Amino acid sequence: MDRLILFDIDATLLVTSGAGIAAMRDAGRALFNPEFTTDGLEFAGRLDPLLLVEMLELNGHEPTHANLTAFRERYGAELHALSARRGGPLGTVLPGVHEVLGRLRALGTPMGLLTGNFEETGALKLRSCGIDPAWFEPAVWGDDSPHQPPRRDHLPRVALARVKKRRGIDLPAERVTIIGDTPHDVRCARVNGCRSVGVATGKYSRQQLADAGADVVLADLGRVDAVVEVLTTGSAGGLSVARRDAAPGL
Ligand SMILES: [Mg+2]
Repeated sequence: MDRLILFDIDATLLVTSGAGIAAMRDAGRALFNPEFTTDGLEFAGRLDPLLLVEMLELNGHEPTHANLTAFRERYGAELHALSARRGGPLGTVLPGVHEVLGRLRALGTPMGLLTGNFEETGALKLRSCGIDPAWFEPAVWGDDSPHQPPRRDHLPRVALARVKKRRGIDLPAERVTIIGDTPHDVRCARVNGCRSVGVATGKYSRQQLADAGADVVLADLGRVDAVVEVLTTGSAGGLSVARRDAAPGL
């Protein structure tokens, strides 16, 4: 193993079109008060454990261990219920994702997850969309930071520690590519010395991801051959967008 690709989930592999947020809101309404709201919270690229704390505080409830534990459990139950009611996928797989994952698996390229989702809800989103969480090793989830408060920036080191523990390999950070749709994904790669691939299938544009410092920026994963080359060789594949700070006068 000389390379590892770590995928974000939401707006990188799939979009749930608000199903996750709706399940969190419904959990809050069931547990805490019928007016429970998620309005005004920023979700993209954030860690679920921090979102639950912010949601409780926004609605006037203490983020105690008991409240957070109950909230997390109920969120999982609401997402399961939503999935059952729909009788189909919880979201839409983004262009090229099935093909890219299939190619990487066929090539034997090690791939993992680095996501703000809790394990049980992140895995549910993936499975409901036909993506098997078992394809990804290591999988680093939103509550896997060893620090308080947790930050996404802590998670790449967790991934490297798991590679070391499971495979006995000291993989250098620069051999890790982190692919995600927000400046949070880009920053967590940069501050850890990892390579960053931004994909503009969320709320951020290619230019915004380039400005955040992404090494390569993709519109989506639809150009399968080029994307696989970018992910497996470390090349830019001719797909990058110039950073504003690298282009004076823009
Ligand atoms: Mg995302």
